[in-house]
Amino acid sequence: MALTDRARLRELLERHGFTFSKAMGQNFLVNPSVCPRMAELGGAAPGVGVLEIGPGVGVLTAELARRAGRVVCVELDSRLPPILAETLAEFDNVEIVLGDVMEVDLQSLIAERFGGMPVVVCANLPYYITTPILMRLLESRLPVDAITVMVQKEAAARLCAAPGERECGAISAAIAYYAEPRVLFPVSAGSFMPAPKVDSAVIRLDLRPKPPVSPGDERLMFELVRGAFAQRRKTVLNALSASLGIGKDELSQAFRTAGVDCGQRAERLTLQQFADLSDAVRALRA
Ligand code: SAM
Repeated sequence: MALTDRARLRELLERHGFTFSKAMGQNFLVNPSVCPRMAELGGAAPGVGVLEIGPGVGVLTAELARRAGRVVCVELDSRLPPILAETLAEFDNVEIVLGDVMEVDLQSLIAERFGGMPVVVCANLPYYITTPILMRLLESRLPVDAITVMVQKEAAARLCAAPGERECGAISAAIAYYAEPRVLFPVSAGSFMPAPKVDSAVIRLDLRPKPPVSPGDERLMFELVRGAFAQRRKTVLNALSASLGIGKDELSQAFRTAGVDCGQRAERLTLQQFADLSDAVRALRA
């Protein structure tokens, strides 16, 4: 019987004395159509290595293992490996690493476990740390081609928003810097056990070989992005004057140099304009 069968899942969990931990974001998939689709669209294929974060009882892991060359899963909950040993017994290409994905050295793990194969990330993320996990994966510039993850529906819209869209925020700009994002398909709350309060969506981030803009100081550009979106109802000039501690007259000089309209709101600015503005602020400070 499939792992997505609710009765089988209940029996399995009861036999192992397992109870769901809200704190660890444990909502397990029980909709049989979701995992095969995620694995296919996520790029699991012969010769490809897949890094999964949070395998749970292995419902997505099994679909990945069926298709990919090798699957390595990082799981925080020490109660799960004995269950996974049972549910994934038929696969010899899966390894479970017990640890916190925010602390495990993922660069070394990828180099040691996948030895040069193309690697993708595929996961149904614990929602309490969706953004920190994604930013860690992207900022550490892991050698992965794509990241396909289940996230809350609202988070999906924010993560994949383009400049000018209502949902666009600092995180959208950061994602767009490292990757080309798209929403793949929606997933209803009833697809999980226990059912969360909100619906979800699967998104895919295709990592760019190189960022689309080249600011002189990447950290400063992101400081500007965060400062501008922190007070998104204000004009970028007013928001940045406060966050950078630079007077408006002086700062408007940087806007002129960068060719950016002082009256714009953050969500209207392109990544290129943030890069140009950060270069102009950098010159101002030099
Ligand atoms: N993949 C399974 C599925 O789709 O049914 C489970 C997904 S569940 C939403 C999230 C999983 O991430 C759980 O197995 C949870 O224990 C694990 N997890 C939570 N925090 C984690 C962390 N910091 N590092 C690694 N795994 C974590």
